[in-house]
Amino acid sequence: MAKHKFQTEVNQLLHLIIHSLYSHKEIFLRELISNASDALDKLKYLTLTDENYKKIDFDPKIDVYFDSKESKTLTISDTGIGMNEKELAENLGTIAKSGTRIFLEQMTGDAKKDSNLIGQFGMGFYSAFMVSDKIEVISKKAGEDKAYKWTSDGKGEFEIVEARKDREGTAITLFLNEEGKEFANRWKIESIIKKYSDHVPFPIFIHFEETRTEGEGDKKKEIKEQKTEQINSASAIWKRPKNELKEEDYKEFYKSISHDNDDPLHYVHTHAEGTLDYTTLFFFPKKAPFDLFRADYTPGVKLYVKRVFITDDDKELLPTYLRFIRGIIDSEDLPLNVSREILQQNRIMAKIRSSSVKKILGELENLKNKERDKYNEFYKEFGIPIKEGLYQDFENRDKLTELVMYKSTKIDGFTTLAEYADRSQPGQNTIYYITGGKEETLKNSPLLEMYKKKDIEVLILDDEIDEIVISSIPRYKDHELKSVNRSDAAEDLKSEKDKEKEKEIEPLIKKVKGILGDTVKDVKASTRLSDSPSCIVADQKDPTVQMQHILKAMGQDAMENFKPILEINPEHEIVKKLKDTNDSSLIEDISFLLLEQAMLIEGVEIKSRADFVKRLNRVMNKAL
Ligand code: ADP
Repeated sequence: MAKHKFQTEVNQLLHLIIHSLYSHKEIFLRELISNASDALDKLKYLTLTDENYKKIDFDPKIDVYFDSKESKTLTISDTGIGMNEKELAENLGTIAKSGTRIFLEQMTGDAKKDSNLIGQFGMGFYSAFMVSDKIEVISKKAGEDKAYKWTSDGKGEFEIVEARKDREGTAITLFLNEEGKEFANRWKIESIIKKYSDHVPFPIFIHFEETRTEGEGDKKKEIKEQKTEQINSASAIWKRPKNELKEEDYKEFYKSISHDNDDPLHYVHTHAEGTLDYTTLFFFPKKAPFDLFRADYTPGVKLYVKRVFITDDDKELLPTYLRFIRGIIDSEDLPLNVSREILQQNRIMAKIRSSSVKKILGELENLKNKERDKYNEFYKEFGIPIKEGLYQDFENRDKLTELVMYKSTKIDGFTTLAEYADRSQPGQNTIYYITGGKEETLKNSPLLEMYKKKDIEVLILDDEIDEIVISSIPRYKDHELKSVNRSDAAEDLKSEKDKEKEKEIEPLIKKVKGILGDTVKDVKASTRLSDSPSCIVADQKDPTVQMQHILKAMGQDAMENFKPILEINPEHEIVKKLKDTNDSSLIEDISFLLLEQAMLIEGVEIKSRADFVKRLNRVMNKAL
């Protein structure tokens, strides 16, 4: 007999499940049946591909037994792959999922919020403790001799002892608690299984006792009979014709493969026939999974060959940027014993993958054009991965360029590049954008003043990834994309009058340049400002200051320091007065203050706060 302690995270998760999911407690049955179905998938694959397993008399099924009278138990038993002693301890004593700790830290203690989060996490086996005082798992691994019994009351410990079991597979018995005793009921079980697990591709049987009366009068007697009935339709939903399937069927199937408690936002189901025969069923979730931005995210697409499950942890089935898609790919042409290495170079797989990507992007294009609200909802959650696609997927760049959207100075919400181009002024063949900071900072940036005055729209690129990605779209059709953070963007806006003004302040520019020395790359007269005296921009080929921060954060420490260009506004009162003063210490202080205020407003750290404050005080003192 061996006693084990649960991993700390398991205890935390158990606590959470019990406290945030009590209103959905019936989902434990979906989770256990989905585990049983996975175990059957795994053994089915082995019996078809591995000589060592061919002698097994594989009879794939899931049996459900219950006792509603005395003990109030519910048993779910499968003839799948099973677990040995080590696997029982690992699978049912720890949490293998990546990012568990981070996930647990996000928990707020607010049951409603937490139950949303936990829905995306997928609680699996442990959810059965919502309805049980004690759980017993008896399992025998296929191909091994010994069976083991795992027992726990979910309070920190579990126990594993040797046990007896005739055939391979797993039987899980729940000793139902007060909350759970309603589940020891035939109708309840049947309705839940029909609702959540009808499409499980293996038969699910319920075993129950039926009493009937026979004879008349004195001879009347009650006869108890043990009966077994199949509950589900047991057909792979994705193989069924689309017109036979209802919205509801797709929704429930999605929930069972994704562990998401919410409906999917959208789905696309395709039967391809011709040179290649395959079926795909892809779902777009409503909410991003908790591990979307982790390198060790769990992929969401399962690969089947002729309805035999092959793998669910291959990250190559779809490109990385589509990692949020959940669903199924089922090929008629791939060999059953396809290995992971082969998969990656397989021409059939490559073709399925490439058509799948086109299908998914085409579906998003449809959503964007026909159901814009839904597309906006999608984009809020998955806009960043779509942008990743722009620099990962050269083949589909044009499609992705139509799908990306940005905030803008002209409209609320998001706009596409096509919409911007449509709205642009006659003769304007540039799409302007600003990067480097949060939406609020960008919207208030002095760099936008002249564009506002001239009523020119500027896109607000406020995601960190934007600045990296935007360089992959130098043009959109007739429009060139230009950053207003760059020194040359304002050239377009220059008039003859502006050029005269530039000349006028040339001597001042020279002076300021001399004072600031190599803290800046250059000092120039600005035509883009209206209310502010100064601003900073990046030289044409340099990364912006914010971009430099990102590159440094990504570990590029040795990177040279790109200095900003200071632009000053010849029209501004301060600059005009500065031109006419001879007080050299005042000119020096104000030169630095023009630079420092421009940096501060862009959210850039200044060199010395102490010096800044000293300067400010000297100038204030003079002004009084
Ligand atoms: P998940 O199913 O999301 O991996 P669970 O906590 O539900 O998480 O299960 C943990 C692991 O335990 C599974 O990945 C699987 O390896 C194993 N397991 C659970 N139920 C069974 C079963 N009926 N037969 C075989 N293995 C199982």
